[in-house]
Amino acid sequence: FFFFNDTATTEIYTLSLHDALPISKGKSAEDNIFAANNRAIALAKEIGVENVTNATVGSILDEDGSLVVLDVVKQELKNLTPPEFCAYAPIKGYDEFLKDCIDQCFGKSRPEGYIDACATPGGTGVLHHVVHNYSEPGDEVLITDWHWGAYDSLIDDNNRKVRTFSFLTSDGHFNAASFKENVEDILKKQDNIVIILNGIANNPTGYCMSVAEWQSAVDVLKEATKDETKNAILIADVAYLDYSGEKEECREFFKVFGGLPKNILVVCAYTLSKGFTMYGQRMGAMIGISSDKDVIKEYVDINQYSSRATWSNCNSAAQHAMIRICQDPEKIKQLDAERAKYYKLIQERAAIFVEEAQKEGVKFVPYISGFFITIPVTNSQAVCDILEKDHVFMVPLKKGIRLAVCSVSKKKMHGLAHKLAQIGRAHV
Ligand code: PLP
Repeated sequence: FFFFNDTATTEIYTLSLHDALPISKGKSAEDNIFAANNRAIALAKEIGVENVTNATVGSILDEDGSLVVLDVVKQELKNLTPPEFCAYAPIKGYDEFLKDCIDQCFGKSRPEGYIDACATPGGTGVLHHVVHNYSEPGDEVLITDWHWGAYDSLIDDNNRKVRTFSFLTSDGHFNAASFKENVEDILKKQDNIVIILNGIANNPTGYCMSVAEWQSAVDVLKEATKDETKNAILIADVAYLDYSGEKEECREFFKVFGGLPKNILVVCAYTLSKGFTMYGQRMGAMIGISSDKDVIKEYVDINQYSSRATWSNCNSAAQHAMIRICQDPEKIKQLDAERAKYYKLIQERAAIFVEEAQKEGVKFVPYISGFFITIPVTNSQAVCDILEKDHVFMVPLKKGIRLAVCSVSKKKMHGLAHKLAQIGRAHV
């Protein structure tokens, strides 16, 4: 117990460690990714960076291990004026910023319909608001079995339940049948279904759904919401969009979100974290698409209200940096060229692992693009522990281990598959 003497009231309060609500008890934000990263950093200090492979970091690091910040972003952050840095931004976000987010997100594949957006602190803010405003406490929120761990907390902390479906078939394609089965089952019990689909450059697998696969997901929702008392809210989590393929080609799937019935709302979780390398600036936007004007009006109203009631307004500097870049076609060209360069670098690193893994007979979940490759294993913590003894740090997941190709240099990528094969042969 702690005793506080409040001099204003002269009353004595007691605060015990048991004051949290039962529903909040036991929660803690100890993140196994940051924990492994911290161990890798500590070891690197001891024995030298060159002797440690830290494959936990979900940010792009260059070949000598330093954080990549795109040059065009660096320049425009430096050019900001003090008011651009420090003024309160509108709760909804600057109009110009939101327009730029919509343009940058969709490119030439803007879906048909009413589109509007609210600023959020990264993609995380989008997920928070959609779960909060479109599902009821106790509802199930549908996500893929392979998913970013933060989804669990975002759903659980809002007192909703995680429900997973099999993302991929045994031959490595989008599992539309599993998606359909789970959507239909949830809609028997709930009027609203919220789905988070990180279908391009998926974290943790690197799988990318084709346009036809996105279409099949949307078709499932259309069929399941024929009864107009049912609503589907699909979050397309496009965090790694800018490293998922050729600029316009990888955006073609957005077209399938156009012209949907009014009881299907699509929300793109757009973020500046990866595409602008502004991870710590905490900036993004929730971009809503609907065929109904009123649905989009309500969408903006309620989400702006929730912003006011949670984080209030978002980072002004990051919004202005993006506005400065997007208002100049030359700077957009520079941005595209820099992203293309890092997309290529990540692809080259992944190719080294993929080639060696195939030679060594090490299985991995089909990788197409993005920051991570996943190696399915049943005893992920044990495998990571053994790797750590060999100064290699990866992230244990429920059904596999995650290798961050965004942050491991080509030099250090060589030999990783061999190490995994050795562990497999010795322990399985
Ligand atoms: N979605 C996925 C799958 C992610 O991996 C991340 C970040 O790692 C995010 C969304 C959101 O990140 P942020 O809140 O930094 O935009």
